[in-house]
Amino acid sequence: MKTILVTGGTGFLGSNLCSRLVNDGNKVICVDNNYTGCMDNVKSLINNPNFSFIKHDVCDELDINEPIDQIYNLACPASPPCYQGKASIKTTKTCVLGAVNALELAKRKNAVILQTSTSEIYGEPLVHPQTEDYRGNVNPIGIRSCYDEGKRCAESLFFNYHRYEGVDIKLVRIFNTYGPHMQTNDGRVISNFICQALSGRNITIYGDGYQTRSFCYVDDLIEALIRMMNSEKSFTGPINLGNPSEITIKELAQTIVDKIGNEAKVIYKSLPSDDPTRRKPDITLAKEKLGWEPKTSLSEGLDKTIEYFRSLL
Ligand code: NAD
Ligand code: UDP
Repeated sequence: MKTILVTGGTGFLGSNLCSRLVNDGNKVICVDNNYTGCMDNVKSLINNPNFSFIKHDVCDELDINEPIDQIYNLACPASPPCYQGKASIKTTKTCVLGAVNALELAKRKNAVILQTSTSEIYGEPLVHPQTEDYRGNVNPIGIRSCYDEGKRCAESLFFNYHRYEGVDIKLVRIFNTYGPHMQTNDGRVISNFICQALSGRNITIYGDGYQTRSFCYVDDLIEALIRMMNSEKSFTGPINLGNPSEITIKELAQTIVDKIGNEAKVIYKSLPSDDPTRRKPDITLAKEKLGWEPKTSLSEGLDKTIEYFRSLL
């Protein structure tokens, strides 16, 4: 049995990860300030003796009075409406100070630490699909930069703690992931479209809808995180994790409308600035190093996610 700390453990990915780790027989310590996460996401775990929750802001130093084998660092809002605007400064602090505090803890505990970086570090990509050696095209002063540059700085911190402090790191770059435990008001495209269609509201496409994303179902992504954490010590990443099947936002809207089958009307709103035009991971490295590729098709993943939101609404 390993003792595993998950920051951001009440969020969408974090809560799915905590469940999987507890079910696999580990002891899990979940650390979160519940900014975009919630206790409902971990309600099936809260009475489990192998699960504990600490309400804590990762911008403050983190101390734990027991040995820790592994740390997954997920704390950070991931939805543009949640990380931008008034939250921007806090987002950068969470990325940077949160990384420092998690890395210091890993150093003290001699724990392996995995950072959840993001496809956003590629910005508006000039290389398509994106490979790990592409250095990105980020607007450092744009409205997304609080997140993009915060995550880029965290990558730098991870590699410098590895080089100069001997910390055992794993760095993953996650591409758009969706599924149960996203919040109904999360603001990301799949949760928005499904909740809008289920409640008979207009489906809001930003821009012309010809921008693309590649969506990965959460169970596939969690499997990849665990494989990466337990990969050979010398393998640090960065490694892209996501589903390479690319779709326009317009096609996504139509797919969801067709599945939910009501008369939802699609309306067009302005495109937020610096919204990437296209995004698709090259996952050759993940296939080679982790023997991993996504198994869940978009159709199957959407069905499960629609069922989840139907049960909530
Ligand atoms: P989420 O917003 O659902 O979860 C983030 C969690 O972090 C929440 O529980 C939130 O309360 C917590 N948190 C935020 N600021 C905190 C702070 N200062 N102190 C303590 N806890 C804090 O987002 P998610 O989709 O689950 O993303 C998890 C991680 O994965 C994030 O780091 C995100 O950048 C990364 N990621 C996710 C995706 C995706 O598509 N879901 C893609 C790329 C990267
Ligand atoms: N989007 C949209 N309608 C919405 C929410 C998002 O058209 O209600 C678009 C958004 O502009 C972006 C894409 O869908 O082009 C993915 O948005 P999301 O916020 O889910 O992820 P990210 O932009 O971070 O990849």
